[in-house]
Amino acid sequence: MNPYEQLKAFDWIESNGLELIGIFHSHPAGPETASVPDIAEAAYAVAHVIVSRTGANWKARGFWIQNGKSIEVAFKIAE
Ligand SMILES: [Zn+2]
Repeated sequence: MNPYEQLKAFDWIESNGLELIGIFHSHPAGPETASVPDIAEAAYAVAHVIVSRTGANWKARGFWIQNGKSIEVAFKIAE
């Protein structure tokens, strides 16, 4: 994400009384799990939701990344 746009997003989150609880990104060509760069570059203590594609199927999985490790976490998409 563009650093300036990222700062604007953080300002918007804070000014609206919200809290960053997760970051989403996709792996259109896999893997389903957090990649080595994802783990190395994780800068926030939030859930990381990774949407990946295997063939024609997309799958969303959640991970907690901390201290160089990635642990899968369950999450639920609310209506
Ligand atoms: Zn990734």
